[in-house]
Amino acid sequence: MHEMSITRTLLETVRQEMEKADIKTLRSVRIRVGELTAVEPEALRFCFEASVKGTPFEGASLEIEEPPLKGGCLTCGLVFGTTLFERTCPGCGDSSVEIAGGNELDIVSMEGV
Ligand SMILES: [Zn+2]
Repeated sequence: MHEMSITRTLLETVRQEMEKADIKTLRSVRIRVGELTAVEPEALRFCFEASVKGTPFEGASLEIEEPPLKGGCLTCGLVFGTTLFERTCPGCGDSSVEIAGGNELDIVSMEGV
């Protein structure tokens, strides 16, 4: 499952960050999962809950931000909400549009003691 390997990578990163910051108990972790990653937030949440059972992460809450897909126009610099199939700039009508958001898969912040 796609979400399970993401969860594993996520928890590994969290573990390393906790070590660096000398955090013993994780309270919450906030992540950003863009629309374009095709990750189901609910499936990710389920994998997270299942993965943290019996680990130092147990009881931590997972907060998921879902940034929408955005396009950025290479011609006029406009950034706008778009879909995968709509790649025309609403500002200047040019079609040299690249993905400017929605492909994020990051840890935004974490809290612990
Ligand atoms: Zn444009």
